[in-house]
Amino acid sequence: MQFTSLASACIAGILLAGPLFAQQKLKVYISVDLEGIAGVVSNDQTQPNGRDYGWARTMMLAETNAAIAGAYDAGATEVLVNDSHGSQTNLRPDELDRRAALITGQPKPMGMTQGLDSTFDAAIYIGYHANGSVANAVHGHTFSGALKHVRLNGQEVGEYGLNGAVAGWFGVPVAFVSGDLAFVEEARTFFPGVDALAVKEGIGFYAARTLNPLDAREQIRAGVRAALVKRIARPPVRLTYPATLEIEVGELSWADRIAIVPGVKRSGRIVSYTASDMPTLYRMARVMMMLAQ
Ligand SMILES: [Zn+2]
Repeated sequence: MQFTSLASACIAGILLAGPLFAQQKLKVYISVDLEGIAGVVSNDQTQPNGRDYGWARTMMLAETNAAIAGAYDAGATEVLVNDSHGSQTNLRPDELDRRAALITGQPKPMGMTQGLDSTFDAAIYIGYHANGSVANAVHGHTFSGALKHVRLNGQEVGEYGLNGAVAGWFGVPVAFVSGDLAFVEEARTFFPGVDALAVKEGIGFYAARTLNPLDAREQIRAGVRAALVKRIARPPVRLTYPATLEIEVGELSWADRIAIVPGVKRSGRIVSYTASDMPTLYRMARVMMMLAQ
């Protein structure tokens, strides 16, 4: 009798475990910005004192929950969300899909990549935007409008590039991204093979033709699922180290300040720093951003 019960329990356990891929570890990191969320175009929507900020953060939350759902559809075993816009308290913790953990608030040493490490299997960027020197990119910038150009080993990057290089340092591939079309085009170049969804097409810095946010959420959920199921074929970003971060700031006086940091080289409005690891370069980019204002 006892043996029969045990056998039944074992069979039930096998059946409940579901398809094979659901049994493997799939730890997913999701970084969420606001400027690349469907329908969002104005400062009134992206800044906490803005008239439509409350609406925009609700849109951001909904796209985040869609991405979390897509990850679990694909068999995720753990999901970590990092609120990556402005105050970094945009996502209301009690309204986030409770299957995911949340990093909220600032400052965080690793900013938009806080919490990411080599234990993750894939990174996902939602609501992202292009760098600051592309036309028809909705709110294109890198960390701050004060940073005119940001380059890694000579290649111009946006926030996606700095964050993606950190993910690559940890061996984590970027599997899926969403944002405006200008960002998606940059991301496809920087992350070969990435699954990318444009939720709006910029008509300028403050204007876009946008997907209905309800459609964007459906496509994000389906896109994240599809991207994670085929994640093995996607290589992480690998820079050559030591690597050099080079930033052109908007004012000579800001470069004066940044040049005080030991190890920083400076030529006019261009400051640079070389390091043998990406997390150090990322932190240096954040320091430079804070000093450039
Ligand atoms: Zn951003």
